[in-house]
Amino acid sequence: MIDTHAHLDACDEDAEELLVRARAAGVTRVVTIGTGIESSHAALAIADAHEGVTAAVGIDPHQAATAEAERIGELRELFTHPSAVAVGETGLDGHYGADTLPEQRRLFEAHLELAEALRRPVVIHSRAANVETAAALAPFSGTVILHCFSEPDLLDPALERGYYISFAGNVTYPKADALRKAAARVPADRILAETDSPYLAPQPVRGRRNEPANVIHTLAVLAAERGETAVELGHRIDENADSAFGLGRA
Ligand SMILES: [Zn+2]
Repeated sequence: MIDTHAHLDACDEDAEELLVRARAAGVTRVVTIGTGIESSHAALAIADAHEGVTAAVGIDPHQAATAEAERIGELRELFTHPSAVAVGETGLDGHYGADTLPEQRRLFEAHLELAEALRRPVVIHSRAANVETAAALAPFSGTVILHCFSEPDLLDPALERGYYISFAGNVTYPKADALRKAAARVPADRILAETDSPYLAPQPVRGRRNEPANVIHTLAVLAAERGETAVELGHRIDENADSAFGLGRA
C-alpha cells in the first residue's frame, strides 16, 4: 500500500520512526510533498534516505503572496534529482487565501508550465475555488492528481478529464457522506488514497498527529463504500500510483 501524499518534513517524529510504523501496517511506500523550497529540499533528502519514499516539489498556494513565491525558478533544478517525481503541491485556496487569489493563480500557472515542460504530473490543492481551479487546469495536458479531494462539485469535470482523485482522512468523518458518495463514483483506475500527514487524521485516530500508517483507515472506508475488499483496493491504488506518479520507471 502507498500513502500518496504526506508531509514527512513537517512531522514531529523522524521519518524513520514513521516509516517503521507504516511498514508494520503494510504501507511500504510514501510520496512526501514539499511545500516550499527548503521543504522540497528536505522532502528529497528524506526520499534519498528511505526505501520506498519519493518526493513532489513545489511551493504551496498559502505562500503565493510571500517572498517564497519568487523562488519558483529554483524548482526546475530539483528535477535533476532522481527522487523527484511530481510538481506540487500547487493550486488555489479560496478558504484560507481568498485575498491572495491573483497571486495564487500566477504561482499555480508557473507550476503548470514547469510540469508541462518537464512532463511531470502535478499535485493539486483545491479548496473553495473549484471553478477557478478547473479553469486554470483546462489547458494543461499532463497528468493531474487532485490531492485531498474535498469538493464533490469538482468530481464531474475531474472525471471527464481523466484526473486522479486522491482521498484523505476527511472521507472517514461522520458528516462526509457527499464525499463518500463521490468516492464510490471514481473509476477503479483513477482512485488514490493519502494521509496528508501530519494533518487530517482519519476518524479512528482523529485529533492526533497523522502519519502514513493511518492511510489504512481511509482505505477501509473507501473499500467499504465501493463494495470492494481493502486488499483489492489497496493493490489497485498501488497500480494507480505507479501510473500517476510514474513510479517504477527505470
Ligand atoms: Zn498537502
